[in-house]
Order: sequence, then C-alpha cells, then structure tokens
Amino acid sequence: MTFQNDTITAIATALSDSGIGIVRISGDKAIEIADFLIRSKSGKRFVALAKSHTIQYGFVMDSDHPEIENPENVLDEVMVSVFRAPKSYTKEDVVEINCHGGVLVTKKVLELVLHAGARLAEPGEFTKRAFLNGRIDLAEAEAVMDLIHSKNEMAMKASTSQLRGDLSNKIRSLREEILYEIAFIESALDDPEHISLDGYPERLNGKCEHLISEVQRLLDSAENGRMVKEGISTVILGKPNAGKSSLLNMILGQERAIVTDVAGTTRDALEEYVNLRGIHLNMIDTAGIRDTDDLVEKIGVEKARKYAMDADLILYVVDTSVALDDNDKEILSMIHGKKTIFLLNKSDLEQKVSENDILSLLHFVEDGDQKDLKENNPTENNPTENNSTENNSTESISTEKNSLKYGEMESDISMISTSAALGEGLDLLEKEIEKLFFHGDVKQNDQMMITNLRHKQELENAKNALLLVKKSLEDGMPEDFYSIDLMQAYASLGSIVGEEVGDDLVEEIFSKFCMGK
Ligand code: GDP
Repeated sequence: MTFQNDTITAIATALSDSGIGIVRISGDKAIEIADFLIRSKSGKRFVALAKSHTIQYGFVMDSDHPEIENPENVLDEVMVSVFRAPKSYTKEDVVEINCHGGVLVTKKVLELVLHAGARLAEPGEFTKRAFLNGRIDLAEAEAVMDLIHSKNEMAMKASTSQLRGDLSNKIRSLREEILYEIAFIESALDDPEHISLDGYPERLNGKCEHLISEVQRLLDSAENGRMVKEGISTVILGKPNAGKSSLLNMILGQERAIVTDVAGTTRDALEEYVNLRGIHLNMIDTAGIRDTDDLVEKIGVEKARKYAMDADLILYVVDTSVALDDNDKEILSMIHGKKTIFLLNKSDLEQKVSENDILSLLHFVEDGDQKDLKENNPTENNPTENNSTENNSTESISTEKNSLKYGEMESDISMISTSAALGEGLDLLEKEIEKLFFHGDVKQNDQMMITNLRHKQELENAKNALLLVKKSLEDGMPEDFYSIDLMQAYASLGSIVGEEVGDDLVEEIFSKFCMGK
C-alpha cells in the first residue's frame, strides 16, 4: 500500500459560530509549521520544544509580521496541543490549534497553515493515515466514520463497540481458527510421514460447521444492524379517523400531523424521524385506508400500500370505538408477514372492538375466506355484544402475543391499548418495539452488530467459501481442495479488517508447524 506522507491540515470542527475551532495538522512538518506560526506571550517560539501530549497557550501571528509587540500582527489567541509520533491519532506528529470558533478566524488560521507548507487534507485522510500507519484496522477506521454519522444511541453504541475492536477481535479469532486448519493441511501434505490426515475430514467438517454458525450469527445481526444505522422504517396504517395523526403527534410530542375529525384528512404521507429509547424510527403516517371514490385519496391509499410493503414495522391503528369492517380486512391483507403492532386506540371511549375480534378477522383474512364479512363478523352489526368466545374462529387462534401464527410465516404481532387523547400507551409501545426488534434488551445490547454492507458481503463470501469446504469434504475431494476454499474464507474475513492473505499466512504455517525441522 502506498500513500503520500506529506503534511496535511484541515479544520476538524464544524464551520459555524462556536466557542472553539480546531485546525489539525499531521505529518513530518506539523510541529515545524506550528512553531513558525505561533508565539508565546513574550513573543518567543515554543512549539518545537513542547513535550508530547501537552497543551500550551500562545498566539497565532501573521506569518509575514510575527512581531508580537504590534497587536495588529496577532491573528488569534490559541491553545496548541502537540502529539509527537508515534503516539498520536495518525501515528505522525500532530498539532491541533484550538482557536476561537467562528468561520472567519478558523479559516484564517487554516490559510496560514496552508501558506506555511501543509496540504489541505482530503475527507477522512487523518483516519486513513491512522489505518495505513497501522494504528487501527479497517473495521475500526470504518467505525470512526459510523460513529460520527450515528443518528441514535444504538447506532452510536454499535460504532463504539466496533471502534473498540470487538468486531475486529471476533474476525481475527475466526481467522486464526481457519489459519490453523490451513497450516495443518499444508504441513501434513509437506510431511506425510509425521503428520497424519487420518480422521481429519470429520474434524474439519465439525470445525466448518462451527465457523459457519459463527459467521451466520454475525450475518444475522446485519438486519438489526441496518435498522440501527438507518432507522426502522415504520409505517402507520389505519382507517381514516382511527387516530393515526394523533398517535404520531403523541410519539413526536408535538403537533406535526394535522388532526381533524373529518375522515380522510391525511391525504398523502408524512415522514418523521423519532428516537424511542435510543432506537431511530423513520415514521410514515399514511392516508387512511378506505374504499373511496376520491381520486386524491385513492392515490394516497395506494401509496400507503406501497409503503407498507417496504416497511420494517407497521403500526396499525384501530379505532376501538367503532366496529371492524371491510376496510380493516383490506389493511390486514396489507400487513401479511410484516412485524406489526396493533394500536388499539381510543381506549378512553366505549369499546366496540377487542383483541380477539382483531385476531378473528386476522384469521379470517389469512384463511382467504371470501364470505361477506358482515355474515361472519357479528361485531360489525352488533358490536357491543361482541364476545370473543362467541366468535367461531377465535378459539383456534393463539392469543399469545408476539407469537401469533399468521400465514405461513411466524409473524411478530402484538397489541397495545392506547389513547392518543389521554396520551396513554407510549411507554408500552416503546417496550414492544424493543421486544420485536432487539428482544427487549436494548440497553444491555452490546452484542456485535454488522452495520456495514461491505462487512456483510465479505461475511457472505466467507460463509460460501466454508460451505464449499464442506462440499469438498462430502465429495471426498483431496485435501488441497479444502485449503483453497479455507484460504478464500480467510481472505474474505481478512478484508473486513483490511488484511490481505500474504506473508502472515506463510509465516504462520512455518512458525506453528515446522516442529523443529
Ligand atoms: P387519522 O385520520 O387516523 O389520522 O385520525 P386523527 O388523528 O386525525 O384523529 C381523528 C379524530 O379522533 C380526532 O378528532 C382526534 O381528536 C380523535 N382521536 C384520536 N385519538 C383519540 C383517542 O385516543 N381518543 C379519543 N376520544 N379521540 C381520539
């Protein structure tokens, strides 16, 4: 790997009116440049003499007129941090000039640094140097970026864990296991007199199964990882007037969606971003679903259907003060196979819909029964007499929350009673979302999560390579076939942490298996 090792500089803080702005310099000339530009109170240079990991008070001077006696020559009063190589972020000499925040001052200091011989850094170049100089690996470098861009607490935790090296350590330990097998095979092939491969295929098969399951565990976390990073795409569905906008407002804690008692007010879709217990939700409030002749409303309904198809989570708002009808049937058909939380809203009013009514209707839709809903659902015509035990289809349905069999898929469905009017149910909703996506363990959830597509792809590659080893074992192929695919798995995992198969592999083989020869 090659890279330029010239001295780079950039403003490390946001360009806005703020207390402090930091101009960072990294490279061989970092200290020299800062020494040239900065003076002590008595007008002396001091940066070149500064010890590593110290911060000192000084003045950035106009480089053409560095005489401190004339106040016009002083550009800013600063604090200067010095980190000498290799104990710095980039492993190079690093100087950070803490000047006064504010676009003009910070830019002026940057200009002086550039004028004194540094080059403007590219985006991410300091971190790139940290990687190329071997201070952090690739996964850790990627975590730095993710950490900066994290939009919620969970994403931040996942990035911190990756930056701490949790993922890298896991990947390294998997690679070590693979390397051991490669080394063993190579040594046995080199030295068949002393190293026997009898019974080895069975052992290797067991090892592959273990490795595949470990890789799979990481891959399984990628779906949650994606949602943690990008947010859970959440769609609010329900009939007009069910209280969708009111609930969205309750969740947002502010009046955002327009709430009226005229059915069909939310004609298109509103998108909002919400943080619930550190989980980021991208919430889409849709038009109410009902059979309508209004063209604009029809388009809104169609859009809602599309949003529902792509959603990670559906919040289905049911107005429990009016009986279920064909429109609910329509909505239930839209949520098939989706993680859904039923919000049984308007719990403050007289209740005409129970959990069991919904389950019955769900079952009805699931069975694809085409009979007229009115004949089958006694709640519609006589809602107050609704009683789950009287409803034929109810008994066969498990009412256990979160494990309802819906269709061929085991869909996660749960029901929560809410009242947007009284502001009730939000707490339960938050807990339910945690439970559905993160097994109710968000706060302690420091398990590794794959949040990066590249990592996911490389894990897929590694898994496929390991599956090929298993296939070769099944087909009784010669040992060197196993090595080839093991090498591929080793390389794929290696590229996650930025290592390539090369000298390390060769060294490993001979250091571990030479056995004194
Ligand atoms: P949307 O069409 O589904 O978005 O429904 P809205 O949020 O606009 O609400 C329709 C009407 O129901 C409004 O008059 C709300 O004030 C009212 N509403 C919403 N939630 C509740 C609730 O929990 N209880 C009661 N009593 N009224 C509610």
